Amino acid sequence: MTIRNSMHDDSKTDGQDLVAFIGGSGRSGSTLIDLMLNNHPSVQSVGEVHRLNLYARENNEPCTCGSPVSECPFWLEVESEVRRRLGWSAERHPLHETEIMLVREDVHPTLALMQKAMMLAAPRRVGRWMNGLLAPAHQRAIEMSLVWHDAIRSVTGTSVIIDSSKDARRLKALYLNAPGQFRLINMVRDGRAVSASAIRRTGMSMKQAAYEWKRSQRHTRLSSYGIPSGKKMMIHYEALCRDPEATMTKACAFLGVRFHPEMLTLRKSEAHNIGGNPMRFKTGDREIKLDERWREQLSEKELLEFDRVAGDENRRLGYDS
Ligand SMILES: [Zn+2]
Repeated sequence: MTIRNSMHDDSKTDGQDLVAFIGGSGRSGSTLIDLMLNNHPSVQSVGEVHRLNLYARENNEPCTCGSPVSECPFWLEVESEVRRRLGWSAERHPLHETEIMLVREDVHPTLALMQKAMMLAAPRRVGRWMNGLLAPAHQRAIEMSLVWHDAIRSVTGTSVIIDSSKDARRLKALYLNAPGQFRLINMVRDGRAVSASAIRRTGMSMKQAAYEWKRSQRHTRLSSYGIPSGKKMMIHYEALCRDPEATMTKACAFLGVRFHPEMLTLRKSEAHNIGGNPMRFKTGDREIKLDERWREQLSEKELLEFDRVAGDENRRLGYDS
């Protein structure tokens, strides 16, 4: 069967085999850039793919194509390639039986703290070895992730996989295990906008929203420590919306692929992302539009509270207060 749609018939046009990890906090445009990159013939976005096995087992969250994950033709074909690579019999189901998520409960809390410190500070070779020692289940999950990434490339004929799992430990573990093919796209957005979105969705206080945003920014920053500058880039959500062509041209250069104008549309191409913003289910052409509702939504008091908790982090990213 043909997995990619007609837009992708000239598959494997360019690019070396890469895994581009989208880091940053939620609601910062990661689903937007994920869908835009997915329109490139050499790129396959898989969203928050670390939830793949969980969703297949629990059957509670559909794939972006609308099918349950365990019935999606795309994921079934990738599963059969994984089965072949693992040398498993036809009766076994890698979608259900493998685990690519770094499950918190799989590592003792004390070892998890050591793992965290090691992930930040250890040089590459030691880091990979130490991770295997402190958190063998996590090391197995990362090695299994690389098998799934290769199977996705092989089934789709693409070279660049976009993994938007956001988990900062996964970010560093993927780099430590496959540094040659690793790239980090750190998606950032004005913390006031992200906090306003969290307040709208959950009713939490500004103090909590600002704290959570700051914490996730800090995690991504610390995890990317030690990754060479040529392997990471920062994209501001606002710049992506204001000038999608310039931003996507830079992203393509970073990923070593040619720019394709199809990337500037949000047409519903065949997408099989796992998890992410509900915008991924919308069909038809959509406009790439800057969402700045926070400017009207937030009170003076909330803005002051944000500045108190996370103003320094926001300014570090280039946002004026
Ligand atoms: Zn699907």
